[in-house]
Amino acid sequence: MKVKDGIIGLVVGDALGVPVEFQSRYSLKMNPVEGMIGHGTHNQPEGSWSDDTSMTLATMASIVNKNAIDYEDIMKEFCNWFLNDKYCQKEQFDIGIATQNALIEYRKGIPALECGGTGERDNGNGSLMRILPLAYIPDIDYETIENVSAVTHAHKRSRIACVLYVEIAKSMLENEGFPIEEHIEIASEKIQAYYRDEPELKHFKRIFEDDLDDEDEISSKGYVIYTFESVIYCLKNTSNYKDAVLKAVNLGEDTDTVAAICGGLAGIYYGFDDIPIDWIDAIPQIDKVLSLCEKYEAFCNEY
Ligand SMILES: [Mg+2]
Repeated sequence: MKVKDGIIGLVVGDALGVPVEFQSRYSLKMNPVEGMIGHGTHNQPEGSWSDDTSMTLATMASIVNKNAIDYEDIMKEFCNWFLNDKYCQKEQFDIGIATQNALIEYRKGIPALECGGTGERDNGNGSLMRILPLAYIPDIDYETIENVSAVTHAHKRSRIACVLYVEIAKSMLENEGFPIEEHIEIASEKIQAYYRDEPELKHFKRIFEDDLDDEDEISSKGYVIYTFESVIYCLKNTSNYKDAVLKAVNLGEDTDTVAAICGGLAGIYYGFDDIPIDWIDAIPQIDKVLSLCEKYEAFCNEY
């Protein structure tokens, strides 16, 4: 099964980062995360996942239940998470501002595709962190990926970030054995060809040009471009799942989301067996995630 490689990679990365979210890089340099720990920032038990995982699971469950990508239903399941703690281990404890605003709009009866913020300030990493499931759907088109972003994050920059991420994941799924740089290059070329004169492409320049080797120039804050750059930096400068996600967490700031987005790709690239089993076992209710992965894989195979 392939779906669990990326999805469990994402969940484990999220859970590793939750206890130290918002900690500075300096403080993590002094006291780095080396494995699964509990409490900290959100005072949650060891192995707790956050919004990144919950919204990813909600997306997968909606697609499985509807046997289709239904934007209204995806928003309904996001509300079920936010209001009813569905897709949580215990309760919802973390939500981004843009996502919360979009869910409030949806509750007012606004159509799903009109709920996401379109301002330049609405470009947090909140749609990038939950877009991975789409990479497993054969021949998924860019418009659909953009729309799944747009229900919470409708600015073109966030939409393109989601398409680029799905393309990198797809390249890893399709071209096994290629080095990481090559997957990024393949995906970057596709995006630049498709969006051609789109002015937003300039924000992705450092990713396209492979100009991400200096850690001092990488910010791991929640802006979608900074997050994406951090993820690429971590993938390029490590050689296994464990080191990639620990590097992501220890960059500081938006630790859970950077590690979740990095972990999704690292899980695909290195495979499920490279994810430390004691980290997987430390996550309460991981069986529910694995069973949803199986259902989602069946959907993708029949698509
Ligand atoms: Mg989170």
